[in-house]
Amino acid sequence: MTLAPIDHALAEAHRRFTEANPASRRQFEANAESMPGGNTRSVLFYAPFPLTIARGEGAALWDADGHRYADFIAEYTAGVYGHSAPEIREAVIEAMQGGVNLTGHNLLEGRLARTIRERFPQVERLRFTNSGTEANLMALTAALHFTGRRRIVVFSGGYHGGVLGFGDQPLPTTVPFDFLVLPYNDAETARARIAEQASQIAAVLVEPMQGAAGCIPGQADFLRALREAATAAGALLIFDEVMTSRLGPRGLANELGIRADLTTLGKYIGGGMSFGAFGGRADVMAQFDPRTGALAHSGTFNNNVMTMAAGQAGLTQLFTPEAAGALAERGEAMRARLNALGAKDGVALQFTGVGSLMNAHFLQGEVRRVADLAAVDGRLRQLLFFHLLNAGIYTSPRGFVVLSLPLGDADIERYVGAIGGFIAEYRALLPAVG
Ligand code: PLP
Repeated sequence: MTLAPIDHALAEAHRRFTEANPASRRQFEANAESMPGGNTRSVLFYAPFPLTIARGEGAALWDADGHRYADFIAEYTAGVYGHSAPEIREAVIEAMQGGVNLTGHNLLEGRLARTIRERFPQVERLRFTNSGTEANLMALTAALHFTGRRRIVVFSGGYHGGVLGFGDQPLPTTVPFDFLVLPYNDAETARARIAEQASQIAAVLVEPMQGAAGCIPGQADFLRALREAATAAGALLIFDEVMTSRLGPRGLANELGIRADLTTLGKYIGGGMSFGAFGGRADVMAQFDPRTGALAHSGTFNNNVMTMAAGQAGLTQLFTPEAAGALAERGEAMRARLNALGAKDGVALQFTGVGSLMNAHFLQGEVRRVADLAAVDGRLRQLLFFHLLNAGIYTSPRGFVVLSLPLGDADIERYVGAIGGFIAEYRALLPAVG
């Protein structure tokens, strides 16, 4: 049987990868005896087997077979500081020297809470969690109790955590809440459906840019329509800024000038440690005031000193509002260069996104929602992924590209050059601009 050209190219990429990575393969096979598929975090798996990353330094990674990569995925956005920022390391060591499990209010939690509140003014009061998933679950709980309603509006392609994922419907692993899933970036439908069901809707939960769906920016008129519709319905608008809070000095919502009732945070804000937070309107958050509120919010590690210390160091010494703005600008410039490459060579390869986060799509025309991506041949994404690995660039098989602070100009040149090389090598297999 002869393989189609793309299958042939992919089989060849897999063969080369397997040959070059015997130690990763052994590790994977050994791990599979303890964990299903050798995996404890689904996004990290890809065929034929995922690389084992042995160590990192700055913006560089080394795999178990000793190959060096420029890190262009940075822990799916949590790793904005790189792998060895001295400021973070010192903060964590100092915290550990003071004792790690103090079983009490500690000296560090209020300091980080204040830093976050000052940076994101819509967050009048906040509470910490251990992940973005938990932050969203708690924000939804807050909204359900505050409004006394059950229904939650979300958007197809939305990802709010391991138990809060959505295609056209909630994914099988999504918590069984009363969800109404609407199309993203469709202001008219959202307005109509929210108005129709106004008395039942507790919350509208949305990413200002859908991250996991492929860096699809929310259009300002759509997000404004959600703000207005939620207010008119007496529902709470929750912006999931777990990814997008890095896309400007004070997060994407503030760039757009839209104020949500609740905001969820995560990823890099904990300095690279486990982190999540939810917060917003003081009256909504007062439900969690143990002196007067009706709701408990627990979590053994919510105020763990390592996260509290690393987060503070990161936000005040490294990823300051100025640094966030500069990284976003760097990303915009890189994305413009990447898009010029596809355009110049007449291939349908575009990079969507905002600031320091972007995603490659083998598609012509505007990407407004996840359904627009249905036509993309997923094999091309894989081919690109293995091509980039060969060029010494570590990314994600879905085409996600994440900038971090220690990435140098030479790294960015390497990425842009590798995309040019990919187009040159595989032009015959890529869709042409029509
Ligand atoms: N919300 C968004 C927008 C995310 O991108 C993610 C993670 O990728 C989450 C929530 C979940 O965060 P965590 O993985 O910390 O649970």
